[in-house]
Amino acid sequence: MSANPSSRLLAEINAQIAGRRADLIALTQDLIRIPTLNPPGRCYREICDYLADRLSAQGFVVALVRAEGAPGDSEAHPRWNMVARRAGSGPGECVHFNSHHDVVEVGHGWTRDPFGGELHEGRIYGRGACDMKGGLAASIIAAESFIAACPDYRGAIEISATADEESGGYGGVAYLAEQGWFDPDRVQHVIIPEPLHKDRICLGHRGVWWAEVETKGRIAHGSMPFLGDSAIRHMGAVLEEIERKLYPLLAQKRTAMPVVPEGARASTLNINSIHGGEPEPEPGYTGLPAPCVADRCRIILDRRFLIEEDLTEVKAEVTGLLDGLRASRPGFDYAIRDLFEVKPTQTAPDAPIVRSTAAAIERVLGRVAEHVVSPGTYDQKHIDRIGRMKNCIAYGPGLLHLAHQPDEWVGVQDMEDSALVMALVLADLLR
Ligand SMILES: [Zn+2]
Repeated sequence: MSANPSSRLLAEINAQIAGRRADLIALTQDLIRIPTLNPPGRCYREICDYLADRLSAQGFVVALVRAEGAPGDSEAHPRWNMVARRAGSGPGECVHFNSHHDVVEVGHGWTRDPFGGELHEGRIYGRGACDMKGGLAASIIAAESFIAACPDYRGAIEISATADEESGGYGGVAYLAEQGWFDPDRVQHVIIPEPLHKDRICLGHRGVWWAEVETKGRIAHGSMPFLGDSAIRHMGAVLEEIERKLYPLLAQKRTAMPVVPEGARASTLNINSIHGGEPEPEPGYTGLPAPCVADRCRIILDRRFLIEEDLTEVKAEVTGLLDGLRASRPGFDYAIRDLFEVKPTQTAPDAPIVRSTAAAIERVLGRVAEHVVSPGTYDQKHIDRIGRMKNCIAYGPGLLHLAHQPDEWVGVQDMEDSALVMALVLADLLR
């Protein structure tokens, strides 16, 4: 194994990738034109079949795996995943590229066709262009170019396209990990080509805790509110406590994790939603509300926590405030319900996949790779927790701030550069 593929091999791989420029563009456009919207989970089988055709023609052995019974899986919208494996000429390690094939809703504000895959001045536009069909296409071109330049490689290359990352990954990577696809005895290195940008290596992500807090009240006529007890006023007291005590506390907590953007190096809390009192009227209802005191109010908290924090303490900060109100505020009562939690994860900066990718970035771009951590989670959580695979990073073309936006795009040059980085990683790890 060489940490430094020779200049001749670098030139050969570079030529292979440059010769595939039109193919890279067409592949990205084809992927964008398959509208794999999630929810509800459209065209999953179609995109898996498309990739299976392409990769089996390149000598990959392809498995289509339906996450039967996973959340979201139904006969109308089955959760299909594709895993392709191409073994080399001798024993060695396996490098796996994992991309999610689902995209989020289109939303408003587009000036281009969201599923047109339009190419304009070196950018390909469309929903999923950067998050992350551009990364998927770049990894395929990387693998094909490497195989052409280095047909006698050792070990194995795997490429997967998985469902539902945008809705938690339970019908995708989590399911595959449970079935053993990411066991460390079959996969030794994982790159997830999420759009972190071509000179950055993403080591992991912060933690997440979502919870619903409900305050309780007593319904009464709105003209005599003193006969009831307003759950909305109680929730107001909760929000004031959060504002006065919790936000200043969170702002002081800083992580040593290199999270980008910088603002996410503190603990953060988003109040996702608030619902209380009379429900919103049905569309078309033209009447007035009925005068009632709210007997129930709920908020959903989206708390992102740091690797230095303990989830039990994170929860105790909130329940501490609520218990304080119960002791001090007449009539106050609450319920809290956990909705979702993910622990922070961070691959060691000296892990083999990090070192190899950093060396390749330096070689291709002539600058030192930046190590970053994502503010939000992605499928690495399942590869780490369920698959027990610690040698995993996110690395791929595209700009994270364009993800989920109107007029999302990915740059062709960025895809080519990151494909070259990925191919050099293969050259480093599989020879
Ligand atoms: Zn993504």
